[in-house]
Amino acid sequence: MTRDQYEFQDPRTQYPVLKAPEQSQPEPGLDRDLVPQADHGEQSYRGTGRLQGRRALVTGADSGIGRAVAIAFAREGADVALSYLPEEEPDAQEVVALIEQAGRRAIPLPGDIKDEAFCERLVAAAAEALGGLDLLVNNAGKQVHVERLEDVTSEQFDHTFKTNVYAMFWITRAALPRLPAGASIINTSSIQAYDPSPGLIDYASTKATINTFTKGLALQLAERGIRVNAVAPGPIWTPLQPSDGQPIEKLPSFGEQSPLGRAGQPAELAPAYVYLASQESSYVSGATLSVTGGSPTP
Ligand code: NAD
Ligand code: MG
Repeated sequence: MTRDQYEFQDPRTQYPVLKAPEQSQPEPGLDRDLVPQADHGEQSYRGTGRLQGRRALVTGADSGIGRAVAIAFAREGADVALSYLPEEEPDAQEVVALIEQAGRRAIPLPGDIKDEAFCERLVAAAAEALGGLDLLVNNAGKQVHVERLEDVTSEQFDHTFKTNVYAMFWITRAALPRLPAGASIINTSSIQAYDPSPGLIDYASTKATINTFTKGLALQLAERGIRVNAVAPGPIWTPLQPSDGQPIEKLPSFGEQSPLGRAGQPAELAPAYVYLASQESSYVSGATLSVTGGSPTP
């Protein structure tokens, strides 16, 4: 019998402590090549119709947290447009197959969201293919660990802000004229917004920006009946980490410092996004939902 996300159990032992071997992938990294493999709910996420008939655009939907969100949204009854980079096609095709197995439509839309014109085409293509848009998940992100600020190149700083902040702005701006009252926007923040690692200053700064953008936009869009929230994950096992997201030697103990004693799996993030996307969270806007393995957030 396959366990699902509703089964009562001890969260410390729900997943094993990772003990990942040292490994490295070129950016953006592939879930396919992650050791050990991550859980995105492929075998376990059970939908109950919470997003029936919704039309969602999810960025970074090929792998990691975005993949778990795309699978969960589809199993809850949503059609999903997927944004990812062209070199991630093998990961994306697995997600497309899983969405279709759930009986929903998957619209793969590869391209680079550092490009403003592409962001506009992405939103237009998603809305056209899905017949509209009700849910937007700005989840794509870039994280490259560099020990000393003197060694952070202007290109890295620029690309990190383009991917994490500008793209969120461009995609959200393009989506707004298409979003009806009842729509929900969800941005992926991070515990790094509050508790920055010394080697992730550029990345952590983008996440603080995402939190403030989320709160301000929630206030602005309340009068249109559109809700805006963020999810702040702690250490989650995804291809972001072994593709220069962490120093290689830190990977074997990744996540063990969190109060629950282990890294999180992408599957453990999906219910937070489903909640914020669904009508169950009708009175929740401007919030940040922390999924940090027990690390407190302000
Ligand atoms: P991931 O590598 O699986 O997902 C990131 C995705 O971003 C990639 O799959 C890629 O499709 C997309 N992306 C990056 N640059 C892009 C570009 N230029 N154009 C188009 N797409 C691009 O890793 P993840 O950990 O699931 O990351 C998802 C989000 O979660 C990110 O915003 C990340 O900052 C955030 N986050 C992750 C962790 C963690 O520990 N893994 C913790 C906190 C926050
Ligand atoms: Mg990916």
